[in-house]
Amino acid sequence: MRVLLIGGGGREHALALGLAADPAVDHLIAAPGNPGIAAVAELRPVAVTDPAAVAALAVETGADLVVVGPEAPLVAGVADAVRAKGIACFGPSGAAAVLEGSKAFAKDVMNAAGVPTARSRTIEKADTPIGTALVAQALDEFGAPYVVKNDGLAAGKGVVVTDDRDAALAHAVACGRVVVEEYLAGPEVSLFVVTDGETAVPLLPAQDFKRVGDGDAGPNTGGMGAYAPLPWLPEGMVDEVMASVVEPTLAQMRERGTPFSGLLYVGLAITRHGPRVIEFNVRFGDPETQVVLALLETPLAGLLHAAATGTLAGHPPLRWRPGAAVTVVVAAAGYPGAVRGDDVITGAERPGVIHAGTARRASDDALVSAGGRVLSATGLGADLGAAREAAYALVDGIGLAGAHHRRDIAEAAAAGRISPPPR
Ligand code: AMP
Repeated sequence: MRVLLIGGGGREHALALGLAADPAVDHLIAAPGNPGIAAVAELRPVAVTDPAAVAALAVETGADLVVVGPEAPLVAGVADAVRAKGIACFGPSGAAAVLEGSKAFAKDVMNAAGVPTARSRTIEKADTPIGTALVAQALDEFGAPYVVKNDGLAAGKGVVVTDDRDAALAHAVACGRVVVEEYLAGPEVSLFVVTDGETAVPLLPAQDFKRVGDGDAGPNTGGMGAYAPLPWLPEGMVDEVMASVVEPTLAQMRERGTPFSGLLYVGLAITRHGPRVIEFNVRFGDPETQVVLALLETPLAGLLHAAATGTLAGHPPLRWRPGAAVTVVVAAAGYPGAVRGDDVITGAERPGVIHAGTARRASDDALVSAGGRVLSATGLGADLGAAREAAYALVDGIGLAGAHHRRDIAEAAAAGRISPPPR
């Protein structure tokens, strides 16, 4: 199988490692890829959000399967363009990707499907006097903490959760179309589901860390670390989510004539009323992919190919490595604000170190930082404590001036200090 992987972040490096390790894959091409991915794939430049360009590259490289990593190409219709060339593509159509592209649309689907989620109001023009008044009304209806979400794609940074009503209102006004919703209290879970539109297969649930600082201090980020599995997750929870969330959502998407295939990322809060959906994404999450795929023993390309070709029902059950995985993100100085780039990186060539915002400097080919989240270090171990030690040993061997990372990834879970609220 020849596989073309679209994207160039940490998620795609983790996907590339999984795809390259699949004996069915004889050639892996990544576009644009990154210096870490270059060790296992041929890199090709491409404008990832240009459907015609990606489809042309798929034809030119003789790809049997295209795997799309990020959301923006999917929302732009890249999967449609690839399939129009008769090439299998792992990733939803542009119409189905609206599940992530618009939070208001996602809420509409959830409500129509009867999926448990936060009560919400969509307000069309929060920046007009009438819209602002409607936002204020919704804020007061749901109460603090206030949750205001930009309707469109915002790279994980469009959501404000705050006790400050004025800040919530100001965020809404700055966004335009917004979703205001009730706050969901409880530990969060990221559940990845591989689907061909009919059959759905859950991967191991994971947890990520959104805030920049230890103890969940500071602003939201794209994600500062993750771990799997979740020792505290009640038995049967994944089955419950498949039945109450995933199956009805997929049925609703089929009913609308826009079946969803690819990766459905279900972001959940485990509340005292049970699991509630916080958000849907239409692709693998970053950095949860790093830990989930590190534990997956089943060949990855075969699984994604089955989803892309509607043959998931015949796929054998997934096999998982025993033990646990922890990944810790190493971010550039300034992240999640304006970051400095072009700092030399050392210690990034070891197994387990995943490249995200890295580049080769044109003048001397040195490995340098080129983004907010620069690297992530994934450790495996017999349990979360051992996996933490392995991940932090990798992090401590990385040299990058001004870099920062959280020290508490998976700490509470390893110590048995997380428990969902009693129902
Ligand atoms: P999202 O972009 O929808 O993933 O939101 C980013 C983060 O905001 C989530 O991971 C949650 O930590 C938080 N969040 C979003 N919606 C809610 C909610 N209704 N209640 C509590 N926290 C939320």
